[in-house]
Amino acid sequence: MENTINIGIDLGTTNSAIAKFVKGDVIVFNNPLDYGRSTLPSVVYYKKDRIVVGNKAKEYLERDPKNVVGLFKRKMGTSESFQIKSINESKTPVDLSAQVLKELKTFVNTGDTLDSVVITIPASFDSIQSNATKEAGKQAGFKQVVLLQEPIAASLAYANMKKSKELSDGNWLVYDLGGGTFDVALVRIKDGEMKVVDHEGDNFLGGSDFDRLIVEKLIIPKISEQYTFEDLENQMKSATGKYNAKYYSLLNQAEEAKIRLSAVSSAEIIVERMEDEEGNDVDMEITITKSEFNDLIKDSIDGTIEMIKTILTRNSLTSNDVQFNLMVGGSTFIPFVRQRVEEVLQIPANCEIDPTTAVAIGAAYYAATKQKEVSKDKSEKKQSAISIKASYNKASKETDELFAARIKGNTEGLFYKIVRQDGGFDSGLKELSERINEDLPLVENTYNFFTLTVYDGQNNVIETDIEPIGINSGFGISGQPLPEDICLEVDDLQSRSNKISLDI
Ligand code: ADP
Ligand code: MG
Repeated sequence: MENTINIGIDLGTTNSAIAKFVKGDVIVFNNPLDYGRSTLPSVVYYKKDRIVVGNKAKEYLERDPKNVVGLFKRKMGTSESFQIKSINESKTPVDLSAQVLKELKTFVNTGDTLDSVVITIPASFDSIQSNATKEAGKQAGFKQVVLLQEPIAASLAYANMKKSKELSDGNWLVYDLGGGTFDVALVRIKDGEMKVVDHEGDNFLGGSDFDRLIVEKLIIPKISEQYTFEDLENQMKSATGKYNAKYYSLLNQAEEAKIRLSAVSSAEIIVERMEDEEGNDVDMEITITKSEFNDLIKDSIDGTIEMIKTILTRNSLTSNDVQFNLMVGGSTFIPFVRQRVEEVLQIPANCEIDPTTAVAIGAAYYAATKQKEVSKDKSEKKQSAISIKASYNKASKETDELFAARIKGNTEGLFYKIVRQDGGFDSGLKELSERINEDLPLVENTYNFFTLTVYDGQNNVIETDIEPIGINSGFGISGQPLPEDICLEVDDLQSRSNKISLDI
């Protein structure tokens, strides 16, 4: 299997994921910075000297929205670009997608040479959008990029889960409601061949619209009812509005509440740290019920059902001709979506596959059937080794510690990134130079581990000789008993005020 591609990527509007086919099965790689999750938010944050991708970038939406970009897949294949204030440059959807792809490479902990990949695209992508996706793959350093339609990927994940690669001939629908887009495809198997026969979609309908509806139709009216504001919605939504940052934070809270409502019947949103025009502090706990939420999204869901009806009519099919509706995309976790679609169309909603990883899993199955076309001798020689001499206090009472290092070897075109093992800190990707400095934030009273990884321009890992960075925060200071493994560090604790052997 070594000469097949094996790696599949779901390059999603909201979330992306990377999976690998290994000995008949598929593993989805975990996000090293987001404990327990295997998806990466498709969000990019540009600071002056670094690029941050994923959850941390999403957090900056509240604090620094002008330098954070998300939902750029919607613009793939257009000439639109995004002006980034911090670097005074504009970035195309291809550039931004390449950053997401490069970040996904860092999830792969199996030592693969990442030169070939299958990347999924919506069934609705035309050749310009498809080529833009290929270009993003190339920009991220993949030499061979094979595209696969998302509904086919999801169907393959389903077929392989059923362990029957050859499903019986027939039709089914793939209903994909993600964070930013809705796609529905009619998939047909005939004589063992799986094909997208027809599709419909809305590039501007998804879970993020539901979050927006919660804020605009429930939260803002409830705040305005109890406190005095002039056109609060405008003060929140306008980029120059007084409460623009608050709007982003409420959107995040709305998303969390929405996700809870998939499991429980009501969820609370706390609104505080705002002052109304009469000087009153806003302090509210707003309860949102499941039925309020269902009412909010009903029209959108009915819109998706209309699209399915259009597909059925166009293909002279009735509900009876369709085996099931394969539910894909995070928003199909919403019970109302499943129920409503099933009830109106009288087509069973099939919720057997994990809606957030199915597309990446299917892509990896497909990748296992595709020959690698990148010959070994063509792949570039590995960069010669980099040697790193690090300098930092191994124990500290401070909230952060300065890490400094001197790099030996050719640093040109290389980048580095330092992450704390609990995922709480990510330096972002920064250019590697002969000397680097970084303030590492510490979690109090614990052993903080950081890893420094060096990458080439395409985020392939470059080997170095640096050990994990361990900094003991606070231990031994108040004389508390040390856990066994920490006792090993006693020598270092005794000399903690001295920097370690550092000939920088
Ligand atoms: P995309 O395909 O657009 O990249 P996903 O399929 O990952 O995105 O879907 C992301 C969306 O799913 C987000 O809007 C998120 O809030 C929503 N979502 C995830 N889990 C749940 C849940 N349990 N209940 C409701 N919505 C959810
Ligand atoms: Mg998706």
